[in-house]
Amino acid sequence: MTQKKNTEKKSRGIIVLDPGHGQFGNPHTTKEGFYEGTQNFILAGFLREYLEELGFETVMTRNEVTDDPELADRGSLAGKLGAVLFLSIHSNAPGGDPKSEKYPLVRGAETYYSVSDLDENAKIARELNDAVVKTMGTSDRGIKTRRYPGDESVDYYGVMRAAVASGCKRAFLIEHGFHTNPEDSAFLQDSSCLKKLAKAEAEVIDRLF
Ligand SMILES: [Zn+2]
Repeated sequence: MTQKKNTEKKSRGIIVLDPGHGQFGNPHTTKEGFYEGTQNFILAGFLREYLEELGFETVMTRNEVTDDPELADRGSLAGKLGAVLFLSIHSNAPGGDPKSEKYPLVRGAETYYSVSDLDENAKIARELNDAVVKTMGTSDRGIKTRRYPGDESVDYYGVMRAAVASGCKRAFLIEHGFHTNPEDSAFLQDSSCLKKLAKAEAEVIDRLF
């Protein structure tokens, strides 16, 4: 019998990171030519680096900034790979009239968690959102669930619904502030700030997974 040398560290599990939208998805209202879809991709890249350092394997739903796969394909990757966590990365915009005075004033972070395992997911969402709020210095809009109209047993957001349907119950969508608000937007346009954000989130994942 030959002894197999194993110097590789054991993986702590696969995490699927989903930078929302495509390259030109949702323009920042405070800086022409900068888009939520690009910002999400940059943030996911930093998060990937930190998580890999911590011993997780990571898979991105977008390998190139120009990629923009279907929502169902993004989510179902999690179950297909047996991922321990599916994390969809976004920033927010208010509803209503962009010309209204209140529109740029709305800010803050919120995290959606899957209804598939409410208690456990709520705990994780709470810590992720706290880390985002603290790092961005923005307001806390809370942790939330949103159910699909017509089928209350599943999630509203397509990526989360697809992740759960494919077998991954730990599905989350973080809204990292508002790209329509000057303060949140300034933070999100700065790569060194996004790096801090990624580090704070990786620390939460390190602690909870
Ligand atoms: Zn988004």
